[in-house]
Amino acid sequence: MADLMEKAIAVNGHFRAVAAITTKVVESLRKRHDLSPGASVALGRAITGAFLLASELKGDEKVMVQIIGEGALGEIVAEACPSGEGRGYVKNPRAEVPISDGKIQLSQALYPPGTVTVIKDLGLREPYRGVAPLVSGEIGKDLANYLWISEQIPSAVALGVYIEPDLSVGAAGGYLVQTMPGATDDEIELVEKNILQLPPPTELIRSGNTPRQMVEEVLRGHELKWLGSQRLRFKCRCSKGRISEALVALGEKELEDLIFKEGEVEITCEFCRKGYHFSREELQNLLWRAVKRGKTNDTQDERRSKG
Ligand SMILES: [Zn+2]
Repeated sequence: MADLMEKAIAVNGHFRAVAAITTKVVESLRKRHDLSPGASVALGRAITGAFLLASELKGDEKVMVQIIGEGALGEIVAEACPSGEGRGYVKNPRAEVPISDGKIQLSQALYPPGTVTVIKDLGLREPYRGVAPLVSGEIGKDLANYLWISEQIPSAVALGVYIEPDLSVGAAGGYLVQTMPGATDDEIELVEKNILQLPPPTELIRSGNTPRQMVEEVLRGHELKWLGSQRLRFKCRCSKGRISEALVALGEKELEDLIFKEGEVEITCEFCRKGYHFSREELQNLLWRAVKRGKTNDTQDERRSKG
C-alpha cells in the first residue's frame, strides 16, 4: 500500500483528526541516509509528525520540525508540504540508541533538555516560528506539548516506527487529534478513552489498518466528515540553483576564502545526500553575483540612511 494521509473533522466541529502511514517514506530515508535503527525511529517519527502538521496547510506552504536534544542523535530535521512531499535528516545518522525490552529507547538518545522548533512557511515575508522545550524525547508527546505551549491547541499525537529484524522499516505512521472550541468534558473524556484503548500506531498499521480506520478509531462515537486524503512520498527540493543561492548568500568574503583555499567544491545536500560540484569558474561567477548584491545592498542602505 502506498503511503497515505487522511483527515476528518467531527460533524459537530469539536474534534479534528488526521492519520498517516509513512512506511515507504521512512524506509527511503533510512536507505538514503544509511540510518541506524534508532535514527530511523527518530527521523521516522519526526517526518510523520511534520506530515500531520502539514495537513492543515495549503498550496506551497510548508512546515519544518526541528528537534534538538542532549544525547547521541544530535539534531533531527524534517520538512513536509501539504502536497505530500517530505524530506529530512539526522545530524548523527549512525548513532546507536539503547534498546531495552526489544524497544528502542529514543528518549535516551534525545533526552531533555532540548527544544522542539516548528517553522511554518506560509508564503508571508517572515515564516512563523514556534519553540517549546523537549519534554519526553519520544517526539509524539513533544509535538503535543509544542502544540499546547506554542499554539494553545489541546492535542494528542501518537507516532511510531517499527524496525524489522533485518533493520529495514516494517511500519511507520501515526495520528494527531485536536480538540476544537466547544468540545464538552464528556466528549474529551471519550476521545481520551478511545486513544488509551488503542494499540500503538505501528501495531495498527501492521495489522492492516488504513489511516481512515485509525481516524475512525480515535474519534469513535462521533459522526465524521472526511476532508480528503493525500499520498505521501519522499522528495527533496534541492537544485544547483538553490545551492548557488545559498553560496551567494555566504557573501563576498566567505566566497573569496572558499575560492582561495579550495578552488572548487563539492556540496552535499543534507536532505538527500545528492552532491553538487562547483568549479573555480562557477565559484568566480557566484562571487561576482555576491559582489553585485553587496553593492545593491549598500546603495539601499545609503538611501535608507539618507531618507
Ligand atoms: Zn536534496
